[in-house]
Amino acid sequence: MSDGPITATHDVLLVGGGGAGLRAAIAIAETNARLDVAVVSKVYPMRSHTVSAEGGAAGVFAADDSLDEHAYDTISGSDWLADQDAVEAFVQEAPRELLQLEHWGCPWSRQPDGHIAVRAFGGMKKMRTWFAADKTGFHMLHTLFQRSLKYDEVTRYDEWFVTRLLVDDGRVHGVVAIDLISGRIEAIAAKAVVLCTGGCGKVFPFTTNANINTGDGLALGYRAGAPLKDMEMVQYHPTGLPFTGILITEATRAEGGYLVNKDGYRYLQDYDLGQPSPTPVLRSMELGPRDRLSQAFVHEVEKGRTTDSPYGPVVHLDLRHLGEKLIEAKLPMVRELCLQYERIDPVTELIPVRPVVHYMMGGVHTDIDGATPLAGLYAAGETACVSINGSNRLGSNSLPECLVFGARAGRVAAEYASTASGPPAVIVDQARDEIRRLERDLLSGEPGTERVADLREQMQTTMEESAGIYRNGPAMTKGADVLGELQQRVRRVRVADPSRAFNTELVAALEVANMLDVAECMLQSGLQREESRGAHQRTDFPARDDERFLTHLLVHRNADGTARVERLPVTITRWPPGERKYGR
Ligand SMILES: Cc1cc2nc3c(=O)[nH]c(=O)nc-3n(C[C@H](O)[C@H](O)[C@H](O)COP(=O)(O)OP(=O)(O)OC[C@H]3O[C@@H](n4cnc5c(N)ncnc54)[C@H](O)[C@@H]3O)c2cc1C
Repeated sequence: MSDGPITATHDVLLVGGGGAGLRAAIAIAETNARLDVAVVSKVYPMRSHTVSAEGGAAGVFAADDSLDEHAYDTISGSDWLADQDAVEAFVQEAPRELLQLEHWGCPWSRQPDGHIAVRAFGGMKKMRTWFAADKTGFHMLHTLFQRSLKYDEVTRYDEWFVTRLLVDDGRVHGVVAIDLISGRIEAIAAKAVVLCTGGCGKVFPFTTNANINTGDGLALGYRAGAPLKDMEMVQYHPTGLPFTGILITEATRAEGGYLVNKDGYRYLQDYDLGQPSPTPVLRSMELGPRDRLSQAFVHEVEKGRTTDSPYGPVVHLDLRHLGEKLIEAKLPMVRELCLQYERIDPVTELIPVRPVVHYMMGGVHTDIDGATPLAGLYAAGETACVSINGSNRLGSNSLPECLVFGARAGRVAAEYASTASGPPAVIVDQARDEIRRLERDLLSGEPGTERVADLREQMQTTMEESAGIYRNGPAMTKGADVLGELQQRVRRVRVADPSRAFNTELVAALEVANMLDVAECMLQSGLQREESRGAHQRTDFPARDDERFLTHLLVHRNADGTARVERLPVTITRWPPGERKYGR
């Protein structure tokens, strides 16, 4: 179809070609072969951040494990902020999804007898994390990508950047996107749109996330009228390389690695996480949850027990006792990363590490099937908040979340699209407006005054100072004021490069505007949550307060662009809130 700016029409359009997006595409094609599916991705799908996942994907497998135990670990790990109906669906469907990937060709690591191998992971009290050495995401994404090629009804828009959702009367009807190769700006109509745009680590200066993780889907959904849920819940991973932020996977500790402070002391034994043991003890010490381990690091800094490095204080990860054979067999990428980026061989040397922003528990508010409150708009993967992660995600739950909820969102979006009508004429005007905005504000050759790099750096510093591992009201208020100024300045952002093909300056300008909206939601939500829970630790409200805050927080966008925070009850099914206990 060609109707002015609308150059194509599809039944379902996925924004994102990572784990969640590709799983959703396959689910749609399998639900209804007559539906026409589009996958729009700002990078070639195999470059999506899923590719860099290392450690593994959780799903109950062993005979001594149970779905209830996986559910309980996830719920207690979330500090009781997860919705328990969603967690129950998740633990039930995860093993099936992982096994299906095996049938589609995913080379899971095996035990000597040929069975699937599983490893321990932080906060899980049974071994249930499937892995493909330490390149799990790479193999999973390859498998999904290859599978998606089987379906002729899937059309890919590789290297297209979505700038806006087209919405009329509470219904989503498509997107406007820039074809980065040619610079053409086009509208693509669709009966249903699924946001699978991944995380937003780049809102902070020091992160494991790829440069593309700028929270675009969060901003697209928010501006279109979909609320964002639990945005204050940002996960720090305890072990990143100090300069680059490259992740050293939790699998290193699952295989028996220790964390030691400057005195060579396994300091985690001082933080209610159990006592040292020669072999890893599940849910104990180094296998405690990420929020607690990152908080313990801050206390070690305060006690003067960390080592100074050019990039701030560090502790060390000790893998030397594991031996070269095990490291080569199960952690080859960790060794490669250390050698290449730190010139350190973990077989003989300690690895310097410090906590690093890793994952976004919050996201676009959806129900258990990925549906948002806007008709025709769905979300899945890291960009969505279903929520199974609450205030702290357990390592290895995110990859299976992409599979389980990618598939669910795909199926319901397919059903919706089977009966929904085509786009109303009014979206043609909306599309024209958006194209005009991009041409006039960003590509007119009349550059603004504000440099993208300055805005981004100030936003990142502000977020680190006001919303780090520990926060408080005054710091968040100050941060919100700075963000308010940056929001004014981003209107005058400069895109000096007028070229059409691969205009990376234009993309960076759009991304920084998206990240400012995301950052603002994090602080507005954080200010409202006057308690400490999981990743949200407030020095001015140090205790968990179930009375007032056993609730989700939804950030809505007002017509004037300001944020409004509302509450939504947490769904409790079988596990009443209790104390989080780790260690043995
Ligand atoms: C280094 C690292 C290691 C990890 N290891 C593990 C692990 O071992 N186990 C685990 O469970 N989890 C792990 N995680 C978390 C997990 O990998 C991610 O949460 C998950 O892969 C996210 O998948 P996704 O499909 O939601 O998004 P992504 O894989 O990030 O894909 C996002 C997609 O959206 C597209 N996109 C974004 N914005 C736009 C736009 N404006 N227009 C068009 N397209 C757009 C991108 O092109 C991309 O295709 C890790 C994360 C990191 C960073």
